[in-house]
Amino acid sequence: MSIKVTLLGSAVSHWGEDPWARGSWSLIGRHGSPQDRIALGMPVHDRLRIAGEATHPTRAGMTHGAFEQGRAAAAWAIERGHTEIVVVGAGMAGLGAARLLDDHWLEVEIWEARDRIGGRTAGVEVAGGAFDLGANWLQQYDENVLARLAERFGLRTVVTDFTDPMVLTGERFPGGIEDDVRKRLAAAAPDASIADVLDDWLREPAPWSAAEIHRFVDAEIVMDTGAPLSWLSARHGFEPGVGEGDRWIAGGYRLLTEHLAKGLRIRLDRRVDRILVADDGILVIKDDPVLGESSKRADAVIVTAPVPVLAAGAIAFDPPLPEPHRAALSRLGAGRVEKVVLRFAERFWPEHGYYRVHGPADTCISEWLDATAADGTPTLVGLFAGDWLDTLWTGTDEQIAARATEIFRNAVPAPR
Ligand SMILES: Cc1cc2nc3c(=O)[nH]c(=O)nc-3n(C[C@H](O)[C@H](O)[C@H](O)COP(=O)(O)OP(=O)(O)OC[C@H]3O[C@@H](n4cnc5c(N)ncnc54)[C@H](O)[C@@H]3O)c2cc1C
Repeated sequence: MSIKVTLLGSAVSHWGEDPWARGSWSLIGRHGSPQDRIALGMPVHDRLRIAGEATHPTRAGMTHGAFEQGRAAAAWAIERGHTEIVVVGAGMAGLGAARLLDDHWLEVEIWEARDRIGGRTAGVEVAGGAFDLGANWLQQYDENVLARLAERFGLRTVVTDFTDPMVLTGERFPGGIEDDVRKRLAAAAPDASIADVLDDWLREPAPWSAAEIHRFVDAEIVMDTGAPLSWLSARHGFEPGVGEGDRWIAGGYRLLTEHLAKGLRIRLDRRVDRILVADDGILVIKDDPVLGESSKRADAVIVTAPVPVLAAGAIAFDPPLPEPHRAALSRLGAGRVEKVVLRFAERFWPEHGYYRVHGPADTCISEWLDATAADGTPTLVGLFAGDWLDTLWTGTDEQIAARATEIFRNAVPAPR
């Protein structure tokens, strides 16, 4: 008997095409190392600093890492004696920076390209509930500064056990394989990619089978990065973070960002095109062919635009960024993980919390959060990476949501 489902509403992300993200989170390419993250975050002379998740040496790709880096950049500006600061970007790093500067009674203005705050935390309303199309979890919960804020604001959080997903199709990979993978990646040559290590290993995969190794790599590395394995650094491309006490926020990240933004001066729809440094200050400029240029002078600027946005030259720096910063940008990058939120009239899947679906092709992988606990309406949040994105993320959002629903429905065991 096939399962009947009634979709009440859906939402679909497009991080890969988003001009202000150009991908999901930062990653280290085969010629890079965590040193590139540190180099990118070093002050540029006395007036400019790049912050954002990509500059955190150990908590990159996560909201609390971004927030910490924003605050570190703000502390630098305060220490340098700057009193008027522009922050570029109203994501977690920008909000963290501006909050601290504002708490010190300094003049701070955020210029944000989008018409909303939050950056890669992106709240969305679906069928009367609030969910996330960007960041979902507070990772590394016990040591997460944003988790402490969520507690202070009285937000409800729900635990996800990433170490024990229900595998709906395909087989689980064996428990001990992760240690072996990590050991092999750590022992790789400095410029080796993850694909290089796999090619070698698969010639003699024992004690595992080739299929088991592939299953681990697809489920953990492809899903955690969304990047080609031939580009990712073997030593540094598979960074930790997931599976360390993660909890999602019922009602979404928006509840945090709205608190953080309270009272701040935020100019939305203010894309920064150019940043000019002079002896007596720094100018941020938006060029507009119709309205002309708008600009603001400041003592210092903190830039939180994502790595691929900076690497694409979306902001022109005059003088250009120093060589170590440009080299770091060329060695870092971002992958693509997309999400879909699906709300149903009835639950048609077994209760567990987190699910993994392999197939139909080996490299097609999706993971699913049961977000019903948000408000009681049966809700799934699907995460897609790898080869799925080529076939699934085409057509309208409704078509994508319908296809995603089919993938999950087909994976759920039929009722007897
Ligand atoms: C699908 C997905 C799932 C994720 N899941 C998690 C998770 O579960 N847990 C977790 O911790 N992290 C997760 N992340 C990562 C997390 O969202 C990011 O690491 C974090 O939000 C980055 O914050 P940021 O401030 O560094 O950058 P952003 O949030 O990208 O903020 C930068 C801001 O700068 C703006 N901007 C860019 N260019 C310009 C310009 N020229 N002028 C003005 N403004 C500009 C952008 O619009 C943006 O608002 C996820 C990300 C994605 C995409």
